[in-house]
Amino acid sequence: MMRCLCPRWFLSILAGFASARAAEPVASPEAAQEWGVHDPARPRPAAVAPRPAEAIAALSSPPADAILLFDGSDLAAWQSSIWKVENGYLEVVPKSAPLISRQAFGSCHLHLEWRSPTPATGDGQNRGNSGVFLQGRYEVQVLNNYENTTYADGYAGAAYGQNPPRVDPCRPAGEWNTYDIFFRAPRFAADGYVTRRAAVTLLFNGVLVQDNFEFTGPTAHKKRPPYSAHPAEVPLELQEHGCRVRFRNIWIVPVAD
Ligand code: MG
Repeated sequence: MMRCLCPRWFLSILAGFASARAAEPVASPEAAQEWGVHDPARPRPAAVAPRPAEAIAALSSPPADAILLFDGSDLAAWQSSIWKVENGYLEVVPKSAPLISRQAFGSCHLHLEWRSPTPATGDGQNRGNSGVFLQGRYEVQVLNNYENTTYADGYAGAAYGQNPPRVDPCRPAGEWNTYDIFFRAPRFAADGYVTRRAAVTLLFNGVLVQDNFEFTGPTAHKKRPPYSAHPAEVPLELQEHGCRVRFRNIWIVPVAD
């Protein structure tokens, strides 16, 4: 039988360290680790019919306490005016830059509507790609998945690179899609360790596709980096990915939590 020759004081320090670590949250949710990032073998979300646009429209108007980020008129709520505004929508200008809000946000309910370019061009990740970067880090993917497949964790409504949408209710190019994003901002200890992960619930065209999914860390391509501490409130970003995706009716309700 092996006997440990370590002094008792050393063992007590080790035990204390082990219990402290056990009390901390794990770095990444297990569900997101069952599959590798962008794993082509991961089952793709099944296409389902979106809810009718008229059924969604009634809840798409901003509530009284919402902050309007884009009501169709101008980009005053954003740090730059590099994207095109016309006819009540804004459009990504390829090879420009992401659009970043002036105001910073923590937990929130974010509503926006997006439309893929028509006629649809490109395939896979190059067909109407953009994204909603919550706190500039945690991406809810925007993509035209109508009759267009890609790796599962890159579908529209995915927590990109981490968790596919439960199903795929994407509308065809040229039709408006709606996102209602319920985001919970992460929390960090003074030493930078994440004590509460970022989480997202998403209604995509009125269909639940993310159910309180906890991000494994900030979004990245082909990797899942760990959390890195950041302020409690950070500006929202819309992604420039070379596709002329349009957005409209963007409003946000900050949630104190
Ligand atoms: Mg994207």
